[in-house]
Amino acid sequence: MHESQLTLIDSQDNPTVTDELTGLVRELNIDGKNKKTIEEIRASFGKAQTPTYIDTFSKQDKIPTSLRTEDITLISHAHGRQRRGERNIERQELQAAIKHGRKDIANPGRDGSKRWRYEHMGVVYITDETSRHEVTSWRIDGEDEDEEVEEIAPAEVELAGKGCHAVLIVDNSASMRASDVPGYETRAKAVYQCLRNDFAKEQLKSGAADDVVVTLISMSNDASVLIDTKPLDESFIKNIERISKRRPKSHGNYIPALDKALEVMTADAPNRSSVLLLFFSDGAPSDQSCMKCEHGIQIFDIDRKVDPKMQHTSKGSAWNCRKRIMEKLEKDCCNRVKRIGQVFGRDKVIFRTLAFGPIKEDFRLLEQMAGVLPRGEFQKLGLNAANLKTAFSSVSSSLLTLRTEGGHHASLTRRSDKVVDKNQKVDPTLRNLGEKDGWYIYAFDDFLGKFQFPDDDEPQSYQIRATGKKLVKSSLSPGANGFAFYETPYEEGAERFVYRCTEISAPIGYRPPDGSMSNTAQRCGLRLVAKEAKDVENHHQGRKWHEKFARTQLIAATLAKAFTKRLPNPYRREWTVTFIKTTIYGCVDLTYENYQAWVLVEPELDGKFLKWNNNAGLVRRSTATVRPTSNDNSNFETLDDIPQAFSHFSYEHSAGRQLVCDLQGVWNADDGYLLTDPVVHQVGEQRYINGATDKGLVGIKNFFETHVCSSLCKKMGLPLRTPASNLINYIKPAQKEYKKLDDKKYRSRGNGRRRQ
Ligand SMILES: [Zn+2]
Ligand SMILES: [Zn+2]
Repeated sequence: MHESQLTLIDSQDNPTVTDELTGLVRELNIDGKNKKTIEEIRASFGKAQTPTYIDTFSKQDKIPTSLRTEDITLISHAHGRQRRGERNIERQELQAAIKHGRKDIANPGRDGSKRWRYEHMGVVYITDETSRHEVTSWRIDGEDEDEEVEEIAPAEVELAGKGCHAVLIVDNSASMRASDVPGYETRAKAVYQCLRNDFAKEQLKSGAADDVVVTLISMSNDASVLIDTKPLDESFIKNIERISKRRPKSHGNYIPALDKALEVMTADAPNRSSVLLLFFSDGAPSDQSCMKCEHGIQIFDIDRKVDPKMQHTSKGSAWNCRKRIMEKLEKDCCNRVKRIGQVFGRDKVIFRTLAFGPIKEDFRLLEQMAGVLPRGEFQKLGLNAANLKTAFSSVSSSLLTLRTEGGHHASLTRRSDKVVDKNQKVDPTLRNLGEKDGWYIYAFDDFLGKFQFPDDDEPQSYQIRATGKKLVKSSLSPGANGFAFYETPYEEGAERFVYRCTEISAPIGYRPPDGSMSNTAQRCGLRLVAKEAKDVENHHQGRKWHEKFARTQLIAATLAKAFTKRLPNPYRREWTVTFIKTTIYGCVDLTYENYQAWVLVEPELDGKFLKWNNNAGLVRRSTATVRPTSNDNSNFETLDDIPQAFSHFSYEHSAGRQLVCDLQGVWNADDGYLLTDPVVHQVGEQRYINGATDKGLVGIKNFFETHVCSSLCKKMGLPLRTPASNLINYIKPAQKEYKKLDDKKYRSRGNGRRRQ
């Protein structure tokens, strides 16, 4: 990590403190053995704040209890009405909540406006300051009826282990006996020899021994497993030599081979983190010869010279039957490949189809099959041994990539000290917090500070970078002198636990000298959530690990600002895309690495949490539509089109370098989309520059595999990128292409608006 990234700037611009801090960080992070004492850590982060006692809840309005429910005026927002209709929440219920429910200060709106939070009978209502306009409402009792949403099924079998399973399907039909590869006895011998020298031996050289297993399936009439999930070692190489002496025979049927591959991959999945499937054939499939047409006739088995009608009433009807069988076969093969993607996760499977046969041979199906998966690739090798060697070397290096990817996740150890309690009954608005009730309280000397990356305006550069950013110390909300989070997480993501959290005001001497647990403090400011690593290795990285998330979110936030500006109507609040601000809090805690507890903190989002797309593409497509504006009623945008268009936009805006996805958060008509925890896929940089979820070009390809450009994409002038083969060549980013579009489209549109 670069030195400048570790520098903290004190808000008082005190150069001495900054220098000390840099030194401290260097020692703590780079040389863990040389630990500072707690006193030294405290001194380095500056003096503790003096507490001031402001009761933030004292201004809370009181509603006269004499009002009848029906008398409470309520301007129900159109969307609020629609949402309540969907969930059968009656208008009366909202009025009852205002009258009888528990009232608290809610987090403010995106524009800083004051809001109230009413909770009554398992429903939370957020209203504006007047309590007359409903911003959003949702059930917290889990009985919320969901809208109909089309989802991409998650992987059915978890690749939960280490390393890679490489499954090789090798054609062993009679045609492989042909002696037409210069330098080799037969086609089959050429394949096995290259498999041994350019694949197995290469892998052994690069130390694949313990994290790669290989299965070899021989494809003829049936599929037979010749090597079943064996490590790459000397005996594997001997096995290949033995197998190469077998005599190829009969047909090459694709379907049994694909079925067998799925079977062996499934059996070994718990031990692996990725799978590679190699499909090797010298010709089109022969499965059709044993398939029956709708007339019950094995039509491909009939010698056309002897019976041109093929036992049908006419030649034409026979040909139609042949055609339909071929179509069905193609569909069946592609569906099997698709199924493999469904089972293990579409982005987890590397799939190669290799055509090793005469150039004039029909290999369209091999090409089609490769197109089914985002990491699929088809190669036509001819009958050329040099091409064959290159292909095997390339498979070998793909495998190396998979091994690195697998290792990236497999080396993590889940923490054993925390268990998520989703039914946690902690009142998030409770005013007095006690350590004996399970709150970790840090104030005065135990609180090191609150830090954040400064906001970014839309930058000039077409690629948003956050690596040069420095953390800046920022102030707590009025009256606060520390912060607290609840000991047990109530939610979790892929990598992080989520805790309830708040800034606090603690009295002087809040921690008794005997270290007992009688501390109490008062809640201040916003309702917050804190996030912490789930795995030991990440947890021990402390602040550095959280910075990566904060940077990624900053990149997404900057792109979201640019997106909002370029919307066809940027003044529609409900279309605004905003990533919420992250801050990083530090505390002294003896139970943490280097005595420092660091957590990433965000305001709690009000509303029903939704996910619009995931790491690999589209998740959500509901039927709710945004009403068209009066001057623009040619196309309807659905509420789910906006996040999808934003992901696409981020790709164009960065000239093919970045794509923001995994879009999740809440939506309401006043704030628009409030999102958190994005994934940024980045190409042309070091791997995982934006964290473990950054899949680079593969992630971008996966997104465009499922993305369908909406009318909004078109209105914004985004180039059509589906199918994914239509992506910008990332090696030479087509900055010009986008800039040209940028200048023409957006500038002319801007001028047009000014002329109006
Ligand atoms: Zn027929
Ligand atoms: Zn699009």
